[in-house]
Amino acid sequence: MLKWMIGIFHATWSVLTFLPRWLYARLFLAKEKTYRISRVADLPESPMPSIFYVAGEGSRAWGAAILCPCGCGDRIDLNLLKQVRPCWAFEEHPDGTVSVMPSVWRQKGCRSHFFVRRGKIDWC
Ligand SMILES: [Zn+2]
Repeated sequence: MLKWMIGIFHATWSVLTFLPRWLYARLFLAKEKTYRISRVADLPESPMPSIFYVAGEGSRAWGAAILCPCGCGDRIDLNLLKQVRPCWAFEEHPDGTVSVMPSVWRQKGCRSHFFVRRGKIDWC
């Protein structure tokens, strides 16, 4: 009985000490994540983190999508067609990272406002 209780205690303790490290790692990794371009025929329903999806061939790209970097889980759609407002432009760097102009400012949901520069999120 005592052994069993010690076992439970140890299990609880390891969870309690693990949790802050896990949170720290998550926050740290969240800061470190780098967006890279993935060319797709159609924008995905649920984008993967750290991937900048571009739909359309070459210079005919018409749309992009990312998973919101704030962690709210929403998909952010970016229009790349110059005839339609608002419109964004992206630049693909030789290392596969991406920059997006202008900044992304969500008008609904989490209202995140950030730049994507060389794959990194710069919060405004
Ligand atoms: Zn968000």
